[in-house]
Amino acid sequence: MNIDNINLAYFKGDHSSTCSYCNKGKSYSLGFSTNKLYPSTYQSMMDRGWRRCGTYYYKYNFTLNCCLAYTIRADALLIQHKKGQRKIAKTFLKVVQSDILKNKVEDMKQTLELINNNIKEEKQKKTQNKQQQKQEIQPKQKLVQEKQQQQIVSQEIINSLKLHFQQFQQIIAQNIQEVVQLFKEYFEQKELIIEQLQQIFQINLNIDTVKIFPSQVNHKGDYYTNFIMLLYGLNKKQLFQDFPVNKFALKFIPFVQKYFISNQFLFIQETTGFLSIFTKDNLQKANVHLNQIQKSIDQEKNKILIEQNDINQQKQNIKLIDTFTFNSNSFQIGNMKVLLKPAKCSNENFQLYKRYCKEIHNNIKENKTQYKQFLCEEGLDSQKLIQSQIDASKILFLGCFHMRYYLGDNLVAVGVVDITETSLSSVYYFYDPIFEEFNFGTFGALVEIEYVKLMNQYFPDFKYYYLGFYLQNTNKMLYKGDFEPCELLCPETYTWVELTKELRSEIDKRQSQNINQRQIRISQQNIEIIDDMKSNDKLFYGQIQICLNDQIMKLSESNLEVEKLTKYFDNAYCRFGRQLMEKLIFEF
Ligand SMILES: [Zn+2]
Repeated sequence: MNIDNINLAYFKGDHSSTCSYCNKGKSYSLGFSTNKLYPSTYQSMMDRGWRRCGTYYYKYNFTLNCCLAYTIRADALLIQHKKGQRKIAKTFLKVVQSDILKNKVEDMKQTLELINNNIKEEKQKKTQNKQQQKQEIQPKQKLVQEKQQQQIVSQEIINSLKLHFQQFQQIIAQNIQEVVQLFKEYFEQKELIIEQLQQIFQINLNIDTVKIFPSQVNHKGDYYTNFIMLLYGLNKKQLFQDFPVNKFALKFIPFVQKYFISNQFLFIQETTGFLSIFTKDNLQKANVHLNQIQKSIDQEKNKILIEQNDINQQKQNIKLIDTFTFNSNSFQIGNMKVLLKPAKCSNENFQLYKRYCKEIHNNIKENKTQYKQFLCEEGLDSQKLIQSQIDASKILFLGCFHMRYYLGDNLVAVGVVDITETSLSSVYYFYDPIFEEFNFGTFGALVEIEYVKLMNQYFPDFKYYYLGFYLQNTNKMLYKGDFEPCELLCPETYTWVELTKELRSEIDKRQSQNINQRQIRISQQNIEIIDDMKSNDKLFYGQIQICLNDQIMKLSESNLEVEKLTKYFDNAYCRFGRQLMEKLIFEF
């Protein structure tokens, strides 16, 4: 394939796999790969149900697919934000105007540094030990390794506890007898846990008598234990009057969760104030539990912040972007700076992406090549830009971009977007996992919608926000339908249909029907199918551009026989229609 050519299409054939949405049925798609497409061509493709993943373009086969995946878009100018979205925006605005996020980033940086130093030390020790151990016998080596692993875990616990519990240390030490007494009434001792954790506390935190008690209450983790229980005990006894447990949980617990999930243990704060500890073997169980707990913490958090915000509540639509700072490729949101940059692969972006995958999706397999192909490789030609005729300082950049969100010098989120003459299409969004509690994903969509609205003042045709595919049978995708009013693409007529209550229930009905029986068309229009498609209209095939031995020419001018390729182009015709076929160059 000649890499200089744009709009070259190389057929990959049809693809079927287990459906990634429902994980049950089968998903069928048509695909081709390309070097690059013009953004305007991609726009036409999205309007025929295509979507890109890097330089691979695919379209679902509606007649075979288990899940009904409709292309969805919204006119950014018409969107009326829902109450929940306004709440998220307000909470976020409040947070980015304060130092809450900034402090979180600093905390995280310190901890990461600590962990990295630890890992380095351990690595050094390991190499040293390995050399020594080479001469030793096998069983002994195993024992030493196990002990080392224990030490790493212990060291991490110690560091984390040191870092975060310093401020509570003194109070605990002063009241420890009282707390122990309190808990003795409820729990029995268990030697194993006592020994392990007692040592950590005694040696490293200089606390004299800390007793650890396994739980006799409903057993959710491996065991209930330690410090937070003590804090809770104190709290219960009104000793922590200006540090009630809810506030404590909000400020501290999400961070601890995130930290420990990447290590040997996962700690979960119960709404009762107790702390559950799960080992990694038990992570799945822990995650379910974590979600429940997180939800109640989030609710609590939202409640507090919304109460504060209600004072200056305006019933208007969301304004996150500071319009005084607004430029086509940079703007401010509170303390946060957002830059629109070409979708190049940088180490900074990749490191953030890796942490996001690991901690939010529990996926540690991501490598740089995959990341580059998925979110960086510029599948769209990104050379062209349009100057506004209304204000010459405003530029519409076309192609693939990263919206990079910064707090100070720290990259905290990246929105991957495709921009064409008429729309912004959201490709992906990833963020620093320490902000999980703030609904960063929805926030990102709100910012992107507002960006379209602001740019529309200078580029009247630029007004749509594309959200990829909308599915009703999977909860993860439902939020896309919340940016109302929005439209779904009819997979038969390729016209846009407003997503109404009636359409939603119609889709639900179809989704539950047998694949062979269900109707595909959602448009009420009775037009006789599809723009330029008529079965006897094949005369233009000769005019189609092809690429043969790196030369671009019309099919009729090549030495290929049109008749022999009829089947191939019939196939292409069904996928693209005439207009798109005339734009693409078919690689042979
Ligand atoms: Zn499915």
